[in-house]
Amino acid sequence: MIVLFGESIRFFDTTLRDGEQTPGISLVPAQKLEIATHLADVGVHVIEAGSAAASEGERESIRAIADAGLAAECCTYVRALPVDIDLAADAGADSVHLVVPVSDLHITTKLRKTREQVCDMAWSAVEYAKDRGLIVELSGEDASRADQAFLAMIFQEGVERGADRLCFCDTVGLLTPERATELIPPLLFAPLSIHCHDDLGFALANTIAALRAGASAAHVTVNGLGERAGNTALEELVMALEVLYGVDTGIATEELYPLSTHVARLTGVPLATNKSIVGEMAFTHESGIHAHGVMRDASTYESIRPEMVGRRRRIVIGKHSGSAAVEAALRDMGYTPDAGQLAEIVTRIKQVGDAGMRVTDADIMAIADTVMDIEFTPCLELRQFTIVSGSNAVPTASVTMLVNGGEITGAAVGNGPVDAAIRALQRSVADVGSIRLDEYRVDAITGGTDALVDVSVKLSKDGKSVTSRGARTDIIMASVEAVIAGMNRLLGEEHEDRSQNSD
Ligand code: MN
Repeated sequence: MIVLFGESIRFFDTTLRDGEQTPGISLVPAQKLEIATHLADVGVHVIEAGSAAASEGERESIRAIADAGLAAECCTYVRALPVDIDLAADAGADSVHLVVPVSDLHITTKLRKTREQVCDMAWSAVEYAKDRGLIVELSGEDASRADQAFLAMIFQEGVERGADRLCFCDTVGLLTPERATELIPPLLFAPLSIHCHDDLGFALANTIAALRAGASAAHVTVNGLGERAGNTALEELVMALEVLYGVDTGIATEELYPLSTHVARLTGVPLATNKSIVGEMAFTHESGIHAHGVMRDASTYESIRPEMVGRRRRIVIGKHSGSAAVEAALRDMGYTPDAGQLAEIVTRIKQVGDAGMRVTDADIMAIADTVMDIEFTPCLELRQFTIVSGSNAVPTASVTMLVNGGEITGAAVGNGPVDAAIRALQRSVADVGSIRLDEYRVDAITGGTDALVDVSVKLSKDGKSVTSRGARTDIIMASVEAVIAGMNRLLGEEHEDRSQNSD
């Protein structure tokens, strides 16, 4: 394989600027600082912390990140205006991402200016920013639709006026790898960054093509956040370079998944389950053939080892599962069925899956108990629960349960009635074990407000986890049922011998 990259590739992360421009995201300064710190720890070189002209909160974030002494350069987005540059410099930024529209569409329709006016603005802004002691990355907005001779002229003169770096922005995601290969080489008057958007799913391919054509830095965001369909994803670019091109990126790859979940949690933007590298299903196997293959040698159906990005492989059991995967899952749960019992358990699991339901750990255990004739005595039993919720009430739940035969009543408030109910349950069992809720998901099985609601949860205790489900027309009742089913399995663990009747 011929690898055509320059000395080293720099990662310019714009999660906190372009990523934050994803509709609906708004981060407070403390959250931005948290993400910036994580980004610097992972090893990105430049952090675009925000847009200094946008608001006082943005300036506060930039100041906090610039003052934090991170290993990464603190950059901020500015327009070619002295007022923006002053705000950036006063906030303590190391550098500016100085963005100038370069396509005629943007120059005439958006800005209502001429090419000459834009050149003057750009070049005097470069000089002004240099006077203010800033590193300048001169960026051509909508560069992929620009007259390339004009773009080269504005870049070349920009570098002569003091710009340290350049950036080619494929602002609306219209580039192809073939065009990137052609357009980048004539623009290398200074180190050049590539900024891509994923409107047609080409951001990663375009970024790699531009890097191979001579660009030395890539603009990226965590989880591919960004305007519309988002930007090139940091985790995808890093792993593609490492795995497919043999590049040592210097990025702490095993931190990519923790960083991804951190950003997803703070931004509130959930990940597609099938998202590359960081999606829930990226290292999950259900199908019998795949799971069996992966158990023999993971490389049969995995392009990278999950540990490389800080994850673990998961084999889930469902109607596609074969007996090898079911047997392995049962062994993990402490069951050792004989061949006949295993065959019957597999058949029953497939029936649950065929009925259109997700098969949870608690379902598998209940099936195994029945088939293997194991008596399961739940240690928790719900006696009553009451929820108070409304426009003038803090959602409050009270629960009475039998815990190992003794009656315990607990109460809790929460963000909503479901949250309050689950907290009350957790509090009630606190004496017998500290149980964490790791995942909560709701599926309505039918449409309408009278729909049957299927709640699945993942609970954990001392590093052991279990999934369970509740299905009711009442969402709170379904949640309570799911959590109690899971808690019973987690708490039952210690004093059960699941192999006793397996002979
Ligand atoms: Mn952008």
